[in-house]
Amino acid sequence: MTATSVKTFPIIEIFGPVIQGEGAMIGHQTHFVRLGGCDFRCAWCDTLYAVLPEEVRANSVSMSAREVVDRLRELNPDTPWVTLSGGNPALHQLDELIDMMNDAGFSIAVETQGTLYKAWLGRCSLVTVSPKPPSSTMTQNLDQLARFTGLPGVNFKVVVFDDEDLAFARVVHDAYPEIPFYLQVGNDLENDNRDSLLLRLDWLSTAALQDSSLSRAIVLPQLHVLMYGNKRGV
Ligand code: SF4
Repeated sequence: MTATSVKTFPIIEIFGPVIQGEGAMIGHQTHFVRLGGCDFRCAWCDTLYAVLPEEVRANSVSMSAREVVDRLRELNPDTPWVTLSGGNPALHQLDELIDMMNDAGFSIAVETQGTLYKAWLGRCSLVTVSPKPPSSTMTQNLDQLARFTGLPGVNFKVVVFDDEDLAFARVVHDAYPEIPFYLQVGNDLENDNRDSLLLRLDWLSTAALQDSSLSRAIVLPQLHVLMYGNKRGV
């Protein structure tokens, strides 16, 4: 008799419930599932422990879909949302996990930079696509974003540190004006603190208010960073 192999995923961390601190879900109560692995290496990535292969090997636990859902239920079965993050969760074939989380009554939000598309994204309630601006040092192919535009609950979010990033954000918004659009204040773990982030929020808000091409953009801080600083698991 051959043993049936159970598919597992590299899980960096599962935590919650917490208040989502950014993007379209800001203020909502959610669990987080962070998967290991990413096809980008952004200069200011705040989750390198979930990106670099040696870090992923050291920090991840292989868990099946059933084990992930059991853990989420242990944390709180009544929390309405589960946010899948990374790394880039779209690296993985998550069909079984998505179906089991939906069956368990969780609504699913996903965060990805938009380089890879998977069919399971269509079974999530909210898909945040976050193309990376010039300050990331990555080159983003904006044509790839078109694949996401038909998804339910899709929104685009651009992290902005400076004028060059803001110009990139305008290009994204102009290319896909029908997609809800978020501008998020950039946060550099090494160099930023609450004061510098509030100053950048003030600058970004003023810039959006003065630019008619951004009049429908939603400007947000990273609420959890303002509340708790740059800590993990919040
Ligand atoms: S895409 Fe996201 S997770 Fe990947 S390196 Fe960039 S910031 Fe980090």
